[in-house]
Amino acid sequence: MSLLNLALQNVALERPDMIEDYERKMKRNGSMTKVRNIGEKELHYNKLFDNLHWLPDPVQVQKDSNEYKSFDDVYGVETDDSGRPSLVSKNVPTSADLGHKGGFVAARARSFIICRVCGNRRVVYSGKRLTIDQMRLIERVQEEFIFTCGAPLFPDGVMKETVYVREGQSCNSEMETTYYSDVNGLNTPVCFFCGDTEVITNQEIQNLKQEYGIVRPICDTCFQGGKRPAVRNALKTNKKKR
Ligand SMILES: [Zn+2]
Ligand SMILES: [Zn+2]
Repeated sequence: MSLLNLALQNVALERPDMIEDYERKMKRNGSMTKVRNIGEKELHYNKLFDNLHWLPDPVQVQKDSNEYKSFDDVYGVETDDSGRPSLVSKNVPTSADLGHKGGFVAARARSFIICRVCGNRRVVYSGKRLTIDQMRLIERVQEEFIFTCGAPLFPDGVMKETVYVREGQSCNSEMETTYYSDVNGLNTPVCFFCGDTEVITNQEIQNLKQEYGIVRPICDTCFQGGKRPAVRNALKTNKKKR
């Protein structure tokens, strides 16, 4: 799904008709790339594009504020995504997180939910095994693209207290280690750093597996970018002799 689609979920765009010649030519093009190609080739369209601005990022009225500037205030202004709600670093426990004290453990990891912004999987916790009805409700949240990192799974209702996610995280947060507990056999390995489902293995990773009980999965992009698998539980017996 493109970023444009993500930004415009549930939004309809309307525009007035252009002159007939433009409409006729544009109608033949089913994608933005084709529309842009015409824009590049034909001067008139280039002028049209000159008057268009990128969709602005959300901009906070004040730093760390929950209030955002109106579209008209930021349209045409250069913005960055530092104020994007799901990116604003929130790796401190919220009051809801504190209410689930001891609740973010592997034994309570029951499922996961995918953030609609970053695509990362966030662990769904519950004290008891999920019922079929509960699983269906989680699926509905997933299908309707409601969930983002840092938000509650169920903002209200009967399941708010019993089935929950860790809210003190953002789209920048690494995977929760409880994700890998795989209690329900639901979880496929995903990159510890970015959540990518295409994880790799190579000789260096194999060697780490000889040395550590736990070697977290990693994707090619993170590995090529210089990251190395997160490891735990050094196996003393296999330690190289010095
Ligand atoms: Zn996210
Ligand atoms: Zn990765």
